[in-house]
Amino acid sequence: MTSTETAIETLLTALGSGDVEIIDLTSPLAPETPILQLPPPFANTIAMSLEKVSDFDDDGPFWGWNNIHTGEHTGTHLDAPVHWASGRDGKSVDRIEPARLVGPAVVMDFTAEVEANPDFLLEPEHFEAWQAEHGAFPEGAWLLFRTGWSRYNMDAAAFANADDSGPHTPGVSVAGAEWLAASGISGFGVETVGIDAGQAGAMEPPFPVHYHLLGADKYGITSLQNLDRLPSTGAMIVVSPLPIVGGTGSPSRVFALVAK
Ligand code: MN
Repeated sequence: MTSTETAIETLLTALGSGDVEIIDLTSPLAPETPILQLPPPFANTIAMSLEKVSDFDDDGPFWGWNNIHTGEHTGTHLDAPVHWASGRDGKSVDRIEPARLVGPAVVMDFTAEVEANPDFLLEPEHFEAWQAEHGAFPEGAWLLFRTGWSRYNMDAAAFANADDSGPHTPGVSVAGAEWLAASGISGFGVETVGIDAGQAGAMEPPFPVHYHLLGADKYGITSLQNLDRLPSTGAMIVVSPLPIVGGTGSPSRVFALVAK
């Protein structure tokens, strides 16, 4: 950067030359996008759908547009603190400061472990071992948990991987969730349908990542893809939920900026 060049000019030059690449971490948002399916007696959100208003026809001869129908927690989406009992006096999605939604991204790759055991759980020792190798998580970082699960993200049955004992997908142990809640991260991102493990309903407290992180004003982002294209450290993430007033979450577009 020359003395007369701003940081934004430097970034734009790097984007233009391809020295910095933008990678889309967002899964497609469609009727077949998998959504969480809670067992009875609990209620579930609706799937994503488009309702035609006009399509260059009598209802609008020169324009097409749709109404959208979706839950807040569909596809790649952010969990806000008010989503959980532990955070119900915290921020709704519209109240999360933009500075918390843009920051460093760090990636922990446990694809091989999850291939061997879909119920794999991150423990405090995993975070400590990663930091011993790569350095401390930067303040305000988004920790992204790479598992390879995104290859199932348009196949609801494979994505849930459920049997009689419920879903079997990777996540974080109770001790791991407590560790993350005490860290300086802004958020935790996963490739699965939710930020907790498939079997987390049987933990104490149930769904410990929701409980501990949302209760500590940290955020979740789910159904990410393309994490294999990110370095372990050095990327920047932009998480863009809709500012739904009072919303407990929102479908979000998520980008990573990566230096070549
Ligand atoms: Mn959610």
